[in-house]
Amino acid sequence: MIHNFNAGPSILPGEVFEQASRAILNFNDTGLSILEIGHRTPLFQAVLDEAIATAKELMQLDNDHEVLFLHGGATTQFFQVPMNLLDDNAKAAYLECGVWGSKPIKEASLFGTVEVVASSKDKNYSYIPKHFQIPEDAAYFHYTTNNTIEGTQMHFVPETNVPLVADMSSDILSRSMDFNRFTLIYAGAQKNIGAAGVNMVVVNKHILGKVKRRIPSMMDYRKHIENGSMLNTPPVFAIYVCMLTLRWLKKQGGVAAIDKINHQKASLLYDTIDNIPVFRPTVAKEDRSNMNVVFVMDNPDLEKAFLDLCKKEGMVGVKGHRSVGGFRVSLYNALPLSSVHALTDVMKHFALQHA
Ligand SMILES: *Cc1c(COP(=O)(O)O)cnc(C)c1O
Repeated sequence: MIHNFNAGPSILPGEVFEQASRAILNFNDTGLSILEIGHRTPLFQAVLDEAIATAKELMQLDNDHEVLFLHGGATTQFFQVPMNLLDDNAKAAYLECGVWGSKPIKEASLFGTVEVVASSKDKNYSYIPKHFQIPEDAAYFHYTTNNTIEGTQMHFVPETNVPLVADMSSDILSRSMDFNRFTLIYAGAQKNIGAAGVNMVVVNKHILGKVKRRIPSMMDYRKHIENGSMLNTPPVFAIYVCMLTLRWLKKQGGVAAIDKINHQKASLLYDTIDNIPVFRPTVAKEDRSNMNVVFVMDNPDLEKAFLDLCKKEGMVGVKGHRSVGGFRVSLYNALPLSSVHALTDVMKHFALQHA
């Protein structure tokens, strides 16, 4: 029995793996592989249509918001966002609360002025800044909803009239929120919604077409909307896996239902960390992420012994990111509660041995 706590690419539902593998050999009883069908066929159009419709339904999006599936990962969105929304002589506001939150700041600076409204870099991004001012004249305000590396999560949506742009790569569709509050949302699929190779972008179409610069077609959200995410050959298989995962999520009862389970998983793990002196959490309690749980040991000499035990028990992906050290355990939508029980049992067993 393997328990997969990888940070990304990461665990997906077992039934998605089964359906996706069947589709590689024989897609929908056509005798063709999903890998060899044309993207402009009714076969694939149905996949894309269902992916978009299910995403809209799960997020309860209004008609102003369009759903796109694009290439290039979240990292491409770091520059595609300012290219489309930020004029040379204009300003955008950014919150810097993680390694992933610092990268889009660098990219946006290539296109206009960037004002960093707050940063938690001073404490290795171990908390979320709360008291910051978003300048009223900013073209948009950008932040990362969940900091995958450091294990913090924004548990509030900033109050502002400035258009909100969010990188939701590591917590999209993991919790209930008003997605219509956002002007633009992007997420690499490989954490919570599918296979690597595709991004989901949700954009309020009324924000587009306002910048003066000329935008290459592949970078222009309007062109992708006009062409239904098929300006060129889309990542067919990656979109298919997204569709299956979104379908699975709908079957689980949607975002509210998964939110509840995600909460149970995170509470169980944080309670265990808090109650075992061997382990120590690294982030401010009120900012703890329900997706990526980061913790260390007071005695780093024990780290290897714990990782060895995890390995022996079939636990994958427990080692922390090199910038924080210690351990990082990711609890994405597809991870079952039983895997968290298995891990906390190992932690308790380890603590008894090393008390
Ligand atoms: C993983 C991650 C990224 C990078 O995604 P790519 O698809 O590899 O470009 C960006 N932002 C966050 C919050 C992430 O977790």
